[in-house]
Amino acid sequence: MRAVDLIRKKRDSGELSREEINFLVSGYTRGEIPDYQMAAWLMAVWIRGMNRAEIAALTEAMLHSGEVVNHSEIPDKKVDKHSTGGIGDKPSLILAPVVAAGGLTVPMISGRGLGHTGGTLDKLEAIPGFNVNLSLEEFRRVLRKCGMALIGQTAEIAPADKKIYALRDVTSTVENIGLICASIMSKKLAEGIDALVLDVKTGSGAFMKKEEDAIRLAEVMVETGKSMGKKVVALITSMDQPLGRMAGHSNEVAESIEVLKGRGTADLRDLSLDLSAWMFFLGERTKSVDEGRHLAETMIATGQALEKFRQGIRLQGGDERVIDEPQRLPQPRFHLDVASSAAGFIASTDCEQFGIALAMLGGGREKKEDHIDHSVGLEFHKRIGDHVEKEEPLATIHYNKDAKLAEAKNRIADSYHISAEAPREKQALVRRLIGA
Ligand code: URA
Repeated sequence: MRAVDLIRKKRDSGELSREEINFLVSGYTRGEIPDYQMAAWLMAVWIRGMNRAEIAALTEAMLHSGEVVNHSEIPDKKVDKHSTGGIGDKPSLILAPVVAAGGLTVPMISGRGLGHTGGTLDKLEAIPGFNVNLSLEEFRRVLRKCGMALIGQTAEIAPADKKIYALRDVTSTVENIGLICASIMSKKLAEGIDALVLDVKTGSGAFMKKEEDAIRLAEVMVETGKSMGKKVVALITSMDQPLGRMAGHSNEVAESIEVLKGRGTADLRDLSLDLSAWMFFLGERTKSVDEGRHLAETMIATGQALEKFRQGIRLQGGDERVIDEPQRLPQPRFHLDVASSAAGFIASTDCEQFGIALAMLGGGREKKEDHIDHSVGLEFHKRIGDHVEKEEPLATIHYNKDAKLAEAKNRIADSYHISAEAPREKQALVRRLIGA
């Protein structure tokens, strides 16, 4: 078999067999197939698509590129959550400690920033010393001690996703249902969970801009998880505007700590509670989702979730003092307001552009080797439906370098669509449930 023939086959709309997909995934993971051939194949897949059999074969090939972890020595149910990605999308940092404090185990394998979206691993690395690269043995040790561990794909767990994910990030091959399903489900099925809650984003800041595409992605992922014996539900949620007030790395960690302290914005808090509630329910910790929500609220109100986060940071080598002193997170040197050019109501946002602007300021990667500047970020002052005066700040940019500042500022300003009239209805954050 030759990679070049499989690239041509997909380019010409052919269907790849299980053996052919295995050949590509295992060859690439072992370093025998170079980046440029994998990138060409990914682009062919992006353009031509994959059918259900190909998606299943890719998911399984990526899952079996490493170990499938068995945590049978841990008696609690193991549950996790994964989001398809967005702007300011930080509930993982909140719900992992909430759910672990509530008595379940959360073995979370996350990703880095992808396309215009931020990644949980990059956010955690804003905490000085925090190590997301635990070995399998260390992962198990942290899980046993505190009920949660947040790591990345490793040489042992889902190595194929680690490599393919980094390549997709810089080759514009992210927004594809089959590739997203295989990426998410391979690492989630490898982490040894009983149940999984998926947060599938839709809207201008999501990979799936149209709700029907988000529903299709959710259905494929739920079906894949169930076929492997897991309990899975997907919440289709809005990403028409950033979640919470902050986007970036340091500032998203600080905002998550605020929510764990019982503060924070309503949208971020609500979504984190909803997702936690489903995790408690699927993990059989509570008899209903409502009871799960109540338990999640209690974990925050009593400070138990915050203490769990502190313990988790400590066990993964991070500076736990950030909990009480968020200024210990990397800080930007400068701040600049983006003022509104008109008075009126925020009708909509072109949310993806916020992520692109953030990446331009150093908060994302253009090449695989690029380093993230954890201190840069965006702070949003206005939400859809809010009134704004002319010259009033819409957002504040936290930055260090002037290089692409003007372009980033224009992108942000142009991303707010202002109308003379207030939008008629408020869109629900959770649009629907799949697989419940
Ligand atoms: N999250 C992932 O882990 N993979 C994707 O492809 C998209 C979002």
